[in-house]
Amino acid sequence: MILVGLTGGIGSGKSTVSALLAERGAVIIDADAITREVQLPGSPVVKELADRFGAEILAADGSLERQALANIVFTDPEALKALNAIVHPAVGREMNRRLIEQRTTDHVVILDIPLLTENPREGLQGRIVVDVPVETQIRRLVAHRGFDEADARARIARQATREERLAGADFVVDNSGTPDDLSPQIDRLWEWLTGLDQLPADYEPITPKPNGGEKQSS
Ligand code: ATP
Repeated sequence: MILVGLTGGIGSGKSTVSALLAERGAVIIDADAITREVQLPGSPVVKELADRFGAEILAADGSLERQALANIVFTDPEALKALNAIVHPAVGREMNRRLIEQRTTDHVVILDIPLLTENPREGLQGRIVVDVPVETQIRRLVAHRGFDEADARARIARQATREERLAGADFVVDNSGTPDDLSPQIDRLWEWLTGLDQLPADYEPITPKPNGGEKQSS
């Protein structure tokens, strides 16, 4: 397996780039999707959250009332830490399970981790950063995601800066142009990825240390 991280600010185009890499044969392990999966109704994570925060965070069908939970942790740093201490290890375990599944293959495995700069992870062979100017990020979040501008700006302000992300990049995808502009860049990226060394088949995934959870995802 070849193992590389992919990151970028909210709405920068991580999913778009991941999809183009998947078309070329990459296996995508998407941290946000796993975060949603481990919080499906009836999951051990949801049970633990209800034990910690009370049944008011559950809807009648057992699904998480995300807004109720967000309201609790928004004003209470200890509650946010507790939330992260429940969710992050479960996400880490599932990511590692998927990595172990891949380690005896020759696949290019991409870990799509929105907060990779904020929570660095060891054991990667490189980091891809999807880069866009902040104003483009805001325009797309407003146009395609239904954000209002102030909310988009506030979320971006809570993440690492563009410069901080770029400082840790081994390969930068410039997504400031049209989707068509991505294609030649993804060709070059794929060439770089497939030229990296294969990791040993007994590769042990390294779980990142929890950071206390000051930074939040989308
Ligand atoms: P999130 O941080 O919310 O997970 P993301 O980084 O995965 O977002 P995408 O979902 O890939 O970003 O892109 C954000 C939005 O911008 C989507 O609606 C997508 O279709 C659109 N988009 C992505 N790239 C471009 C582009 N080059 N031109 C115009 N729109 C784009």
